[in-house]
Amino acid sequence: MIPSRWLPLLALLLGSLAACAPAPPPTVSVPVDDRAEIAARLEADIAALASDALAGRKPGTQGGRDTYAWIEQRMGEVGLVSGTNDPGSYWRLPVDLLGVEPESAELVLGQGRRRVVVPASDAAVFTPRRRALAFGGPGTGVPVVFVGYGDGSVLGDALAGAVAVMLADPGRDTARRDALFHQRATAVLTVVPDSEALAAVRAAAERPRLQLVSEEEDNLAAYITDKACAEVIGARRWASWKAEAATQAFAPIELNLSVSIEATSDRREFASQNIIGMIPGSVPGSGAVLVLGHWDHLGECGPQGAVDRICNGAADNASGIAMMLELARRLKGGAPLARDVYFLATTAEEPGLLGIRAFVKDPPLPLTGIVAAFNLDMMAVAPAGSPVGFIGRGKDEMLDAAVLAALRRHDRALGDQNLADSFLMRQDGWALVQADVPAVLLSSTYGSRPILDPFIAARYHQPSDEVSGMELGGAVEDLLLHEDLIREIADPARYPASTPPRP
Ligand SMILES: [Zn+2]
Repeated sequence: MIPSRWLPLLALLLGSLAACAPAPPPTVSVPVDDRAEIAARLEADIAALASDALAGRKPGTQGGRDTYAWIEQRMGEVGLVSGTNDPGSYWRLPVDLLGVEPESAELVLGQGRRRVVVPASDAAVFTPRRRALAFGGPGTGVPVVFVGYGDGSVLGDALAGAVAVMLADPGRDTARRDALFHQRATAVLTVVPDSEALAAVRAAAERPRLQLVSEEEDNLAAYITDKACAEVIGARRWASWKAEAATQAFAPIELNLSVSIEATSDRREFASQNIIGMIPGSVPGSGAVLVLGHWDHLGECGPQGAVDRICNGAADNASGIAMMLELARRLKGGAPLARDVYFLATTAEEPGLLGIRAFVKDPPLPLTGIVAAFNLDMMAVAPAGSPVGFIGRGKDEMLDAAVLAALRRHDRALGDQNLADSFLMRQDGWALVQADVPAVLLSSTYGSRPILDPFIAARYHQPSDEVSGMELGGAVEDLLLHEDLIREIADPARYPASTPPRP
């Protein structure tokens, strides 16, 4: 599960409840002994994945590589076969990642003969490149264009190669900057109101971050405080330009300002792996069910100098992988299934759903053939008897109905829907929903605040998310619910595909 601060504003997407319920089918009962056995198997796999030996399962580390090697071995042990659809790569779907950490930055502005190196307290520059440099202004052949509060779109191609200077306008800045880069501006200099605003930009940009190589944006973005800008340009002149920019009639103007912008970054490109196995169905071409969970966690995240710095991620998300493996074992061991069932362990969920996004861009099976997907994330939090959080409700009527019917069969209460909805964009299923794949996350972890809040406060993304003291009662019930649902959905006679899957 990824932190909420990394998300755009959440639009609440509330589904409508089925108005009337048919007579409840018989409830599913599983012997108590069986449940204890399931809990023991979950605990053994969680303990292996959350052990200090895997050092927090961070992509790009030895612990990360050992984690997916362990998952491959377990997928084989529970009876899965490769789901890659690539004879050259048995379990692995490579995901090319890029880590960028800003190193140095310099912004120099000049007016006439005056040349000012803007101090770091008033300027910041970022690039994903190892080194990026841009010059503009008189004598350089590169225009410096003041676009005010606009996005330069009135200029069209005329902006190509230019250095753009824009005034910050909270809420619209990222989109405007992207538009300017899209028109091939060499660099964009954003004027922010004060040093506080600059510190906020810095805090967001200086955190080491991971992205997909395929989504890399090659750009050079500089920031300067309003005060520093006024000092170079002259307070009166700067004030008049800003006043003009605020009028309806404003058109971008070329500035008689020389600019030198430079930044360097520490870059590291590496491959991590999504791991995928499957149970082939008995009716080829009838579609697929996808079970997924992320294997990665944060590595070391405890404070410097702490005795235990490893974030073991027992609940987040060793528990989801353990549940996936046990589900695979039980489904494989039971009656044959008509549809294919895929089991996908994703990498790099924590830095922003990167592994699943790579899967969506280059899937080994047609996404249109996936009739339903079940994400498993932070499954070992609630005790038995807890209500079920239903994340992803309201996107697919047929899946909603199947889930609600299964809850009744299992005598499980539906949890707080607002709470569940608030996690929609924070989990791998979101990338599937965006690609029109029906995807839900069903877990007692997200059913009620009295269950979720203490976990978030005491363990979430902390070294204390360890095997000891973990609660598996809710996880076992959730597993049985999934097993039942997947059996139903893997059967085209009981669950017809809403759109016919393509071969
Ligand atoms: Zn997490």
